[in-house]
Amino acid sequence: MTQQSSQEQELIRINYGTPRPYKWATGKYIGKLYKEAKENKQLVTNRCPQCKQLLWPPIAFCGRCKVDAGEDWVVMNQRGTVVQYTYLVVPMWDPHYGEKFANPYPTATIKLDDGAYLVSRLQEQDPEKLKVGMRVEAVWKEEGRGTGMGDVLYFRTIEE
Ligand SMILES: [Zn+2]
Repeated sequence: MTQQSSQEQELIRINYGTPRPYKWATGKYIGKLYKEAKENKQLVTNRCPQCKQLLWPPIAFCGRCKVDAGEDWVVMNQRGTVVQYTYLVVPMWDPHYGEKFANPYPTATIKLDDGAYLVSRLQEQDPEKLKVGMRVEAVWKEEGRGTGMGDVLYFRTIEE
């Protein structure tokens, strides 16, 4: 049985000073996405040979058709439309790299013009300017690339 105290719990903080670098294999499909993002600032994916749908992220088989997806690679348009957004105002940390995100921290589900959906940060910080349907395009990091979609710094608002 747990008893609750009206006193606040004391939290113990443990700092790890030892770096823990590691490598993992990304495989043929995600590896291609990472390579193209890093070297060419491109978002690539593959297309199912049967249903012709873009498979995002790139994958070895089409879940709809249950067939080998093959390597019909497509360089996707980096422009898209915001279909949903979230405006976070609490501190967040990148679970992969441990870096603290900016605060506030707008993120969005974006439907790229080629039809693929992805989630990314938005450059726009003014909540009054965030709208479903706003047009955006990818802005890439100049340095430190090699993390796939993490190489996209954010999507900036565009006028068309
Ligand atoms: Zn298919």
